[in-house]
Amino acid sequence: MRVAMIGTGYVGLVSGACFSEFGTDVICVDKDETKIARLEDGIMPIYEPGLDVLVENNVKAGRLKFTTDLKVGVKDADAVFIAVGTPTRRGDGHADLSYVYAAAEEIAEAMDGFTVIVTKSTVPVGTGREVERIIRAKRPDAEFAVVSNPEFLREGSAIGDFMRPDRVVIGTTDERARDVMRDIYRPLYLIETPIVFTSRETSEMIKYAANTFLAAKITFINEIADLCEKVGADVHDVARGIGLDGRIGKKFLHPGPGYGGSCFPKDTLALVRTAQEHGSPLRIIETVVDVNAKRKKAMADRIISACGGSVAGKTIGILGLAFKPNTDDMRDAPSLDIIPALIKAGATVRAFDPEAMEEAQKLLGDIVYCDGAFETIEGADAMVVLTEWNEFRGMDLDRIKSTLKHPIVVDLRNVYEPGEMAEQGFSYTCVGRASIG
Ligand code: NAD
Repeated sequence: MRVAMIGTGYVGLVSGACFSEFGTDVICVDKDETKIARLEDGIMPIYEPGLDVLVENNVKAGRLKFTTDLKVGVKDADAVFIAVGTPTRRGDGHADLSYVYAAAEEIAEAMDGFTVIVTKSTVPVGTGREVERIIRAKRPDAEFAVVSNPEFLREGSAIGDFMRPDRVVIGTTDERARDVMRDIYRPLYLIETPIVFTSRETSEMIKYAANTFLAAKITFINEIADLCEKVGADVHDVARGIGLDGRIGKKFLHPGPGYGGSCFPKDTLALVRTAQEHGSPLRIIETVVDVNAKRKKAMADRIISACGGSVAGKTIGILGLAFKPNTDDMRDAPSLDIIPALIKAGATVRAFDPEAMEEAQKLLGDIVYCDGAFETIEGADAMVVLTEWNEFRGMDLDRIKSTLKHPIVVDLRNVYEPGEMAEQGFSYTCVGRASIG
């Protein structure tokens, strides 16, 4: 079995490396020459725990290769995965499918013999049909099938998620394609991974339904958190109290500054758009999008009011910039809303993130980037936890207090205990629990 992976980003590189770990020959293709050159030198273009070792081992074993030449990658492949980006299209919220369609055109020219083309990118319902039309128009006599196989991995735990998924979804009605997909995912049968075979349209829909549901769940607990603050309840106990109900489930009930990242913001918008176009609006998800956008903005106000109503001329030390821990991904991170709002309000921002500093500098520009957590809060008027990296959870409270100018902590991820913060004499603002100060 030979697999070509078009797009060597968070999904393509992890999927390609994991397939090669299963013993499949994989060639990862990317247009970005720097990315491929770095990979050939053994340097990972992204931060994902465990990825460097996985890639190194499989490159050494000769099962994992990289190229910028799509033709070379696709020519002998039994399956060609499209794992290119599908960002939000400027102006209308729809998924920008130009990368997917461009890849389809190129694949059509390069494929040889029966080829299964697999859309792993998150794409709106009907995209598989259009990919098929594009390829058929270029190669009327070619033997191929276009399959939907959405990816559910999470950045930060991507390898484990890929190797031990809750399920694999495969959308095709083509028997030959089904056999190829079964072969590719055969190693997962051993760990009894449920494989959902369905139509292409249903498979495309499953991915959006899953992501928008999760975004709604986060938004739900965020609003419950706000209400908890008003009525004197503790959102963590509420989350535990409802999450133990099997119908609700424990996950995605952690309150915070609003969801961000490379998927939820764009996928919620895209599904809202699809639903509107089909005259079947998803009002719940429209509200989720709106509530989440407002929430990110409101977080800057929360910081400002924790600082006594103004941050003009004050220094704020921000811990964490990535949209979540264990990734360097800055796409739609709450920090991108919060930090500019603080600067606009007159603050000087110092910041540190263990992995996302390089990406952050491209997007945030003029703030002071520091080498560690304590350097960031040195002499600052307040410390703000924006991303719950492990190294921020166990920081010495005495040292935090003596390093800050004022003992003000705004913890938007609830990594500290309010009682302990009170004992230590902090003014402590958190989410969905009684703040102190
Ligand atoms: P990414 O931006 O990290 O990577 C995409 C890569 O594709 C880039 O390196 C780009 O250079 C390359 N590319 C674009 N056009 C190309 C072409 N014609 N030929 C070769 N390479 C090309 O994107 P990502 O985060 O990996 O996401 C990819 C898709 O997977 C998206 O649709 C996304 O919604 C979906 N997805 C992402 C995640 C995630 O956590 N990042 C999880 C599940 C699904």
